[in-house]
Amino acid sequence: MSEIKLTFYGAAEMVTGSCTLVECGSTRLLIDYGLIQGTDNDKAENLRPLPFSVSELDAVILTHGHLDHTGRVPLLPGSGFKGRIITHAASTELATLIWLDSIRLSDYGKPLYDEKAVNKTLELVQGIEYNQEIEVNDVKITLFDAGHILGSAHILLNYKGKRVIFSGDIGVKRTPIIRDPFTQWERNVHAVVIESTYGDRLHKDREKTVEEFRSKIDTAVNEKGIIIIPAFAIGRTQEILYHLNHLIERKTVKPLPVFVDSPMGNRVTQIYKKYTECYDGPTKAQILSGDLPLQFKGLNHVISSSDSRSICETIPPFIVIAGSGMCNGGRVLHHLQNHINQDNTVVMFVGYQGEGTLGRRLIEGEKNVFIGTEMREVRASIATLNGFSAHADQNELIQWARSIPGKAIRWFVNHGEKKAAEGLSDAISKEGLGESVIVKKGMSVTV
Ligand SMILES: [Zn+2]
Repeated sequence: MSEIKLTFYGAAEMVTGSCTLVECGSTRLLIDYGLIQGTDNDKAENLRPLPFSVSELDAVILTHGHLDHTGRVPLLPGSGFKGRIITHAASTELATLIWLDSIRLSDYGKPLYDEKAVNKTLELVQGIEYNQEIEVNDVKITLFDAGHILGSAHILLNYKGKRVIFSGDIGVKRTPIIRDPFTQWERNVHAVVIESTYGDRLHKDREKTVEEFRSKIDTAVNEKGIIIIPAFAIGRTQEILYHLNHLIERKTVKPLPVFVDSPMGNRVTQIYKKYTECYDGPTKAQILSGDLPLQFKGLNHVISSSDSRSICETIPPFIVIAGSGMCNGGRVLHHLQNHINQDNTVVMFVGYQGEGTLGRRLIEGEKNVFIGTEMREVRASIATLNGFSAHADQNELIQWARSIPGKAIRWFVNHGEKKAAEGLSDAISKEGLGESVIVKKGMSVTV
């Protein structure tokens, strides 16, 4: 049988910079080309060209729109890449937002690329549907719903009967709006490249988290407080709106104004509203019953910065959802500056807070913090809700892995820090699912 060669150029023992080269005979494919985030040393790597000629690539296939999977793609056309960029139609729109937003990233002294590069990239993009088999030379490619964010996909490659799956980021079952990760695989698979972000951990129960969310809002409403929710624009903002829609329309909390103060978050919400074919059964049924999941009375999408500043003139209680998710920039900063020194403010964290960020300092309980250039006393209550993850935990990763048929599947664990990757790799071995290897940067394997 034919051979497929994989070389891992990114997301090896780390969670960013996804990038794997696939060689099937003379056909060369790149799976994801994401931005490396982390230390300055890590980031410098973004500027280094790939150690092979990108002009020889036939196609780039993207699992989903997130920056750490797509962020370097606009560098390709300028380096001689002329192939296709294949991804789910919804991911093309989310990636476009990410690319245009990345133009202003200044971590590198100058931007990594400009609008012209993004436009050149867009000319090469081909958006496809789930379960639609397409061909690049003699390699058949199919995307299956990964349940992580809108448009996210597992990629199945079939080269003359040899089948390899790239998991991409694997979502959590019962995430609102989008479907659960696909598990109805039909044909035997020979190898799987699997993510391991939470390969060594279990998540808090989602239903309990939603109840905690409700009760915190309820308390804040009774105290006429302001609730600030720092949230990532893609996925988390829409999930929060989905829960608020339920809580407000079912009257489990009193109605109150909700501001989404994030131009990016609002554009993403528009894309979520457009791709109703990607919704799960309950969300489709909800729409049929006349309830739009991302729309409710009192919801305001704030675009201009003057409207953003005038939010503070609203009489409390109210909710502001604003980026950035880790409070290291964005409009959430001026809301924190205005309200963090008030007893009846609640700052509700619904996502991961990286080391060194203002978000991390707040959840660690610092009582005086610099916000921008100004020092503020923290009198607000700080709430951390840990159950809204967009990544499967160890149990769910193993359940997904178990769904894949095959006699002697080889597992290549990527996209996880060392401990997480080891945790998942050990669990795969213990389950007797096959030989498992943690990928190292630059490592090549033949399947
Ligand atoms: Zn992702």
